[in-house]
Amino acid sequence: MFHDPIPVEPTIQHLLDTIVAYYPEADLDLVKRAYELAAKSHQNQKRLTGEDFIFHPLRVGLFLAQKQLDIPTIVAGLLHDSLEDTAITLNDIEKLFGHEIAVLVQGVTELDKLKYRGLDRYVENLRKMFVAVANDVRIILIKFADRLHNLETLHGHPKHKQERIAKETLEIYAPIASRLSMGEMKGLLEDLAFPYALPKEYAKTKKIIGEEYPKKEQLVKELEVIIKRELDRAGLKYKSIHGRAKHIYSLYQKLETKDWDISEVHDLMALRIVVENIGDCYTTLGILHQRFKPLKGRIKDYIANPKPNGYQSLHTTVFTLKGEMTELQIRTPAMHAKAEWGVAAHWHYDEYGHAIPGKRYQWVQEINKKLISLKDNAQFLESLKLDIFQNRIFVFTPKGEVIDLPESSTPVDFAYHIHTDIGNRCAGALVNNEIASLDTPLQNGDVVKIIIDKNKKGPNPDWLKFVKTNTARSRIRGLTKKSIFRWMKNVIPKKGA
Ligand code: MN
Repeated sequence: MFHDPIPVEPTIQHLLDTIVAYYPEADLDLVKRAYELAAKSHQNQKRLTGEDFIFHPLRVGLFLAQKQLDIPTIVAGLLHDSLEDTAITLNDIEKLFGHEIAVLVQGVTELDKLKYRGLDRYVENLRKMFVAVANDVRIILIKFADRLHNLETLHGHPKHKQERIAKETLEIYAPIASRLSMGEMKGLLEDLAFPYALPKEYAKTKKIIGEEYPKKEQLVKELEVIIKRELDRAGLKYKSIHGRAKHIYSLYQKLETKDWDISEVHDLMALRIVVENIGDCYTTLGILHQRFKPLKGRIKDYIANPKPNGYQSLHTTVFTLKGEMTELQIRTPAMHAKAEWGVAAHWHYDEYGHAIPGKRYQWVQEINKKLISLKDNAQFLESLKLDIFQNRIFVFTPKGEVIDLPESSTPVDFAYHIHTDIGNRCAGALVNNEIASLDTPLQNGDVVKIIIDKNKKGPNPDWLKFVKTNTARSRIRGLTKKSIFRWMKNVIPKKGA
């Protein structure tokens, strides 16, 4: 399965071995030094489960290494709790491990300050998370790994805390993983939180699974053998074939829509077939349809028509052994990495031990470039946009900073958001490198540059007709009043003049 077993009390050697396996040239010394600092800073600390604290960051690091992430992410994973309740400062981390790692550790620490306090804080939390994602998606990866281990050790917590953490996971973390197209991460988070957040529903689902899963599991094993044989016979080289059980929380959601009739769920088990290239995907589909009759209307070509979040694969539901229906998913290694890791796939090392070159850092700048150069920007950004943010837009400064504004905000709102002075002297705007009028409604993902007129005295009162933010409105009003006052002082002759 996706989540390989991690020893309950791992050692630094486990971590180093895992890293070397996919990245032989890694700077292991850096990893060792991070471990030593973490061990020292958490010395004598225990977790609620009673284990030494150090096993927590170590397991977070191990999880990230199992997912073949880059070294800064793993090092920051080891250090992610070092700023809280220890004598270590951000300055120390920057000095010892450099700026990049310090930024990651700081980002995770900032997110730790967010606590679930009912719906009122929900939107605010989501927004902060999104901004963290936009700053560096690796921050959220570390946070996810942290959360996974916290969920795994939730039994050590008092009941009210279990419930809070589980609900927060289902309502904030999982939707973000989903929006970042990190399907497997979403599934893991939900499955671990499910028993604590919805114990009754969990028990009910579990009971149904108990009866169905062993049956299906056996079937999938037999099927795997047959499919391998068919592909070998056709001379088609596959990369991997593996069965996967539907995540239990996602099964629960589906059962809810199907009146709890499990025979209506066709993807209880699915087989994933990873082949070398797109051509082979279609060939594989052809080969398998000759062997197994497809269910009508269930063939989905998400390669030609990707899902809005960018997901690609061929899906088909076929009648297999004993007339049972099974879903087959056929994809390339790149599609597979993207399905598991979504936007974070860039930080994932490929099978040759290289991260995809040039895409590892400065994610935001990457987005900017894509937004300017690609036609599918809108789609790319749609996949990042959380439902909850539908009335908000995220635009970027030319340096890649994220600015969060209400929908239909204009360059003037943007300018005042940056600085009052920039608003006051704003004379024009470049949106995605093109001249735009100051009342242009900005779109999600726009890169906005404000053109300044140094000689400009103040805002134009006409701007009040189109600005959307209170900041802009109150500044313009304030200054317009002042300038009218100034103007009046000039025109109304002083006494005795
Ligand atoms: Mn932690």
